[in-house]
Amino acid sequence: SYTRIQQVDNKVRAFLTLDEENARQAAAQLDKQLASGGAARGALFGLPVGIKDNLVTEGLRTTCASKFLSNYMPIYDATVVSKLKDAQTVTIGKLNMDEFAMGGSNENSAYHPTHNPWNTDYVPGGSSGGSAAAVAAGEVYFALGSDTGGSIRQPAAYCGIVGLKPTYGLVSRYGLVAFASSLDQIGPLTKNVEDAAYALQAIAGYDPKDSTSANVALPDYLSALTGDVKGLRIGVPKEYLGKGIDPAVKEKVLEALKVLESQGAVWEEVTLPHSEYAVATYYLLASSEASSNLARFDGIRYGVRSDNANNLLDVYNLSRSEGFGPEVKRRIMLGTYALSSGYYDAYYKKAQQVRTLIKQDFDQVFANYDVIIGPTAPTPAFKIGAQSSDPLTMYLNDIMTIPVSLAGIPAISVPCGFVNDMPVGLQIIGKALDEATVLRVAHAFE
Ligand code: GLN
Repeated sequence: SYTRIQQVDNKVRAFLTLDEENARQAAAQLDKQLASGGAARGALFGLPVGIKDNLVTEGLRTTCASKFLSNYMPIYDATVVSKLKDAQTVTIGKLNMDEFAMGGSNENSAYHPTHNPWNTDYVPGGSSGGSAAAVAAGEVYFALGSDTGGSIRQPAAYCGIVGLKPTYGLVSRYGLVAFASSLDQIGPLTKNVEDAAYALQAIAGYDPKDSTSANVALPDYLSALTGDVKGLRIGVPKEYLGKGIDPAVKEKVLEALKVLESQGAVWEEVTLPHSEYAVATYYLLASSEASSNLARFDGIRYGVRSDNANNLLDVYNLSRSEGFGPEVKRRIMLGTYALSSGYYDAYYKKAQQVRTLIKQDFDQVFANYDVIIGPTAPTPAFKIGAQSSDPLTMYLNDIMTIPVSLAGIPAISVPCGFVNDMPVGLQIIGKALDEATVLRVAHAFE
């Protein structure tokens, strides 16, 4: 893994922090346990993994790709990180992202952009772009990312790998630096669907340290991969193949549906009528929650304190204005505005109501269909710099991932071909807690 990283990471730049010494020690420790008979060799034994830099890692710097946390050394592991250690993986280092997971291209990292391994002039997607690029470039076996509005699925699509956003609550968020708590969910980015099933099995499950954690029995995700989709009913939302979608991407999705059809599945056009409001709803709700969550960065409790402050108010003001990048400030301002008295009913409350309508759209389709399929993103990856001056265009890349996040349901992105030599992702969406079906369909297709 480190040899490969040395060969390629000066071009891909997926990592923010490498932890070679501890990783070697952890690997040696695992070998020793195995040799002494103290542990059995699990399915993930010794696999090198990378962790998105918004998941806290004990004694390993965790920056959220922000200057604010450039010196932040967590004193505990996120639940998913300790679960991966229990599963005998070896943490290689921390992966680049958009600052505080706000963005879709990795260009909002306060440190450096990550490059798409298929063509280094292109973005890897985001916000888990470092995670996707590291897996695609073979620097780690798999990686963890977080998805609030698409941040696992969209970079997986742009980098030609598999990215799974589980049902909200299936994977503990304890130790994930919060962006929008009602939407954030952790999941794996892997080379194939089987690896995604293994990784999900390792990280899912009830955690009393996360009040939104689902207390449900876990199925065996591996045995769900039967290869059989005969009789499966697929709904294809007409809103996901309409305006704004690159026709070449649409073509790839239709080809994918033909493959599933040839395996015995049937598909029909369905409608998710409130889709067009999803992006506006998401950016109101996510920014509102972010403005509240990021209040903890005050220059006192975490990270960097401004050197230029002469009084307490200065400590807050200067630490925040020097520590946060432009996109994070934009979201905090938008969210604070939407939550302020006099505007709350018009924006935040309205957005919550629309969120319910969006969820009901999915419920209605799932009454008659097993999965919903469409593209993961409207286009393949774009060139670095092409959209960075235009936040609204950037926000529209999330048009087909955001509704799923608002509904809290699971979805996976699997590669379904290339357009202009860049990978395209197929999004398979399932009912709440039905990751088994999502994985089964993705596995049959890939
Ligand atoms: N691109 C979206 C945003 O900027 C999604 C981010 C995410 O899922 N973390 O908010």
